[in-house]
Amino acid sequence: MTRYLNTTDPDYDDQRLGYNLAVEHKPEIIVPAEHAAHVVDAVRHATDRGLGVAVLATGHGPSRPADGQLLINTSRMDGITIDPVGRWARVEAGVRGGALTQAAAVHGLAPLAGSSPEVGVVSFHLGGGLGVLGRSLGWAVDHVRAIEVVTADGVLRRSTATSEPDLFWALRGGGRGTLGVVVAIEIDLHPITRLYGGGMHFPADLADRVLSTWAEWTATVPEEMASSVLLIRMPDLPALPEELRGRYVAHLRFAFTGSVADGQRLVAPFRALGPITDTVTEMPYPQLGTIHAEPTAPVAFHARNRVLHTFDVAAARALLQHAGPAAEAPYLVELRHTGGALGRAGAVPSALGRRDGEFVLYAGGAASTSEAPRLRAAYKRLFEEMAPWGTGGVCVNFLSGPDVSAAELASGYRPEDVLRLEAIKRAVDPDNVFRTHHGLA
Ligand SMILES: Cc1cc2nc3c(=O)[nH]c(=O)nc-3n(C[C@H](O)[C@H](O)[C@H](O)COP(=O)(O)OP(=O)(O)OC[C@H]3O[C@@H](n4cnc5c(N)ncnc54)[C@H](O)[C@@H]3O)c2cc1C
Repeated sequence: MTRYLNTTDPDYDDQRLGYNLAVEHKPEIIVPAEHAAHVVDAVRHATDRGLGVAVLATGHGPSRPADGQLLINTSRMDGITIDPVGRWARVEAGVRGGALTQAAAVHGLAPLAGSSPEVGVVSFHLGGGLGVLGRSLGWAVDHVRAIEVVTADGVLRRSTATSEPDLFWALRGGGRGTLGVVVAIEIDLHPITRLYGGGMHFPADLADRVLSTWAEWTATVPEEMASSVLLIRMPDLPALPEELRGRYVAHLRFAFTGSVADGQRLVAPFRALGPITDTVTEMPYPQLGTIHAEPTAPVAFHARNRVLHTFDVAAARALLQHAGPAAEAPYLVELRHTGGALGRAGAVPSALGRRDGEFVLYAGGAASTSEAPRLRAAYKRLFEEMAPWGTGGVCVNFLSGPDVSAAELASGYRPEDVLRLEAIKRAVDPDNVFRTHHGLA
């Protein structure tokens, strides 16, 4: 039976909060869905009462608060079915990346996964899905075979390249929260079992050398080599090794699917610089999440990003002026090397048509609501400085928090795709039932 929690229900608070506490939903009703029929009931219940419908899976990418609306919490929809022969998986709406990676590994297979095993598989795909191995495998959205979705009319539909093709096109890249509630997706799995990967921390006085070396090195590496750099002042926590506690560091991360010998040769220039820590080694694919080692404790954070066409030595210097050891930036900065297969069109076209760019520059910081404007102003200065290297685009999946503008979101797409997305939205959700997530208009 479908459960409808109101504000006085003892489970209400537990069901409305996710990882990013910058958005604290205060919905009128929460439905803790366990399967598709609960989602159908919830959407009909909301539309009968004129309420909007919002979705919460893990809370890693919230947009606006779902205050006064009906919030469907999908975290209990945790079913995973794997076809090892056909090399695909059916994944329900509440499954996290780590659970899927573990389940697929039993069959010697791997999904295209992002950097954090805590992120929800479905929404990661709906926003494009920048996988750690994206440079060799492309966007995760290109590996979606089918999407089961409950639309605003309360109907459960199965959309594929041939059935409901417009919806299938739009959901893949433009489907986070705006077109319906996805109850499950079917995705490709890949015969990958191991990686040569890990991270190296470098001290503040090497940040300039590391970033300049990385800028030149990324122009030379094969698509099988993925890497990123994090510039961060580490928290002063007793759980951290003494050499990292409270220190500014550059954290360089690698994930390579070629041989160990080739991997060692490729990362040698960085080992020669003398990292403080070095965890780069051969590892099973399910340990992918240890490479970025992202925090898991809920926090109120705000994130922005820009796609860059180039990251050269001049860009490295400009970045360090804002986010280097002397800058005392109120945010961390991460650069991901993209390009490769991420720049090529998928076999089946999707809303994620904009694929130019060779790097994603991400900035994120923890801030209370009152501190958020200061953080936003700092991001503005950073991105203005980096504009000469920018494509003018953003990575859609990395936009979160209540203050993302329609124009900023639209810059993640080609103009013709924005128009088509808007037309499909009007056709499938004419009353804007799914109004909480950032829209394009
Ligand atoms: C630590 C961290 C690491 C990340 N790493 C990567 C990465 O490597 N690559 C990458 O591409 N992205 C990455 N992201 C971004 C992440 O993929 C997106 O924010 C994604 O939308 C989060 O999905 P979620 O279900 O975990 O979060 P939620 O906040 O629960 O959902 C995000 C939004 O998606 C919508 N949504 C959720 N479930 C459904 C559904 N079933 N149907 C329809 N809409 C739904 C909702 O509108 C919701 O607002 C990362 C984010 C964080 C915080």
